[in-house]
Amino acid sequence: MRAVVMYAPGDIRVEEREDPEIVAPTDAIIRLPATCVCGSDLWPYRGVEKHDGPVPMGHEYVGVVEEVGDEVTSVEPGQFVVGSFFASDNTCEICRAGYQSRCVNAVPMATIGTQAQRARVPMADGTLVATPGMPGADLIPDLLAASDVLGTGWFAAVAAEAGPGKTVAVVGDGAVGLLGVLAAKQLGAERIVAFSRHADRQRLAVEFGATDIVTERGDEGVAKIKEMTGGLGAHSVIEAVGTQESMMQAVRSTRPGGHIGYVGVAHGVALPGLELFYAAVHLHGGPAPVRRFLPDLIRLIWDRTIRPGRVFDLELPLEQAAEGYRAMDERRAVKVLLRP
Ligand SMILES: [Zn+2]
Repeated sequence: MRAVVMYAPGDIRVEEREDPEIVAPTDAIIRLPATCVCGSDLWPYRGVEKHDGPVPMGHEYVGVVEEVGDEVTSVEPGQFVVGSFFASDNTCEICRAGYQSRCVNAVPMATIGTQAQRARVPMADGTLVATPGMPGADLIPDLLAASDVLGTGWFAAVAAEAGPGKTVAVVGDGAVGLLGVLAAKQLGAERIVAFSRHADRQRLAVEFGATDIVTERGDEGVAKIKEMTGGLGAHSVIEAVGTQESMMQAVRSTRPGGHIGYVGVAHGVALPGLELFYAAVHLHGGPAPVRRFLPDLIRLIWDRTIRPGRVFDLELPLEQAAEGYRAMDERRAVKVLLRP
């Protein structure tokens, strides 16, 4: 099969790899009609995260089940499925508490690589959720978004306790931040402030439910949020970047007693203890337990209540994956969909 492999930072290739096979009786093999490039793929692409190449790439996926192991009971060949970027058993104590991304048996799908024509999904019963039927082509980008960026934005909004009567601020205008806006809207937030200085991303934020756009960032952005909230700060803040600047912007934009949902993969973030102490905010985040939300997200997509696939603004054949990475790295695209 054809698959995306990274040899070194900036060196993305599409090459022939062994077709996946059932390894454990709990595995499933899926064929992907679409896959995509994640903002978090840019950390190794830019050399910020070190990997000894060549490594398979990709962790987001949807697909048609082709084969299942002997112990798989909840999905069968021919079904269309969506899964999270962490495979999970969905039965351990951590999973049952709703934190499947930290399952005691979790397998990062990035180690398998889903920017490929096929993929092996471990713990298929725990990991995969079947859609009500075979989706039309128009729904596939929406379902693919649920695999990570929508699920992650949703978790951030839940962790930030977005809801009726709340002012929600969103730091980060990548796909996750934009879908955090969508999630906050669905959860009933009263006012949703998106930090963004790019016209195309601002438009999408408004389409997803942002009521206000703030172009300032850092402490100037914080001052703007304070000004909009009678000096108090937002009730709920979504952090979807993962840098020191974005994290401090989130902490300082939140009112005392408010909640921060942080889902940007932290790189070089060090929180000053004394400032955090006096901020008196709730901090909750980490790798999103997308599996917890998948059944609800699939229903909202199936009913066409939400269209999260709007974040894909560039579509390329899998063979042109390198161009997809470049476009996201240069911020020419919000999110790139690849057709295997
Ligand atoms: Zn588990």
